[in-house]
Amino acid sequence: MTQTNYLWTPPLLSSLPVRGIVARFPINRIFCVGRNYHAHAVEMGRPVDKSTARPFYFTKSPSTLVESGATVPYPAGTSNYHFEMELVVAIGASGFRVSEADAPRLIYGYAAGLDMTRRDLQLVARDQGRPWDLGKDFEKSAVCAEIVPVGDLGVLSSGAIKLQVNGETKQTSDLSQLIWNIPELLADLSQFYHLEPGDLIYTGTPEGVGAVKSGDTITGHVDKVGDVSLTIGPAE
Ligand code: MN
Repeated sequence: MTQTNYLWTPPLLSSLPVRGIVARFPINRIFCVGRNYHAHAVEMGRPVDKSTARPFYFTKSPSTLVESGATVPYPAGTSNYHFEMELVVAIGASGFRVSEADAPRLIYGYAAGLDMTRRDLQLVARDQGRPWDLGKDFEKSAVCAEIVPVGDLGVLSSGAIKLQVNGETKQTSDLSQLIWNIPELLADLSQFYHLEPGDLIYTGTPEGVGAVKSGDTITGHVDKVGDVSLTIGPAE
């Protein structure tokens, strides 16, 4: 076999640790669901009527991934850097146009994650009808803890999800409040993409999102899944 010769060393593949297993989970793509808890949709000024709406998505580059426990710089270009606590679904099998009934076979496991957001840039883009990339797809913006294999957890449909900043509770909700639940999301997203092992799906944040500043520490929790943390360092 011929070895490929690159101009420079390619970036390392992003990956995450898996609880109880030495091998790491290699990341393929990162999908994020927008407005998937009613109270958060309302606080963003865009309520959702499930009878007429469908879920929508944005993506983050796999290179934006940062492991739980990291300290990240306060990012460039924003003065309104927000946390969003989310349940992350890790995909472990291929699926295209899957039914809700078939969707659970795609789930490798779960993780606690943070969809870090430059809210000021996101809202300018949203209100001007432009892409959200500057607000969402920036360096070290996809924070994720270790992946917990699905095992006996099955399809999560309830369980507390919460977030604290410096020990003060900011977000608290329950997975039962998801507008589109996990099988519905997998069935819908797979109408548009061939889901593949290594894909991550951030399932949306509950209400209570807010800003952090340098020196803050975020800790988040999803029942039966685990914890995620992030410390905000000085601005670059
Ligand atoms: Mn989000």
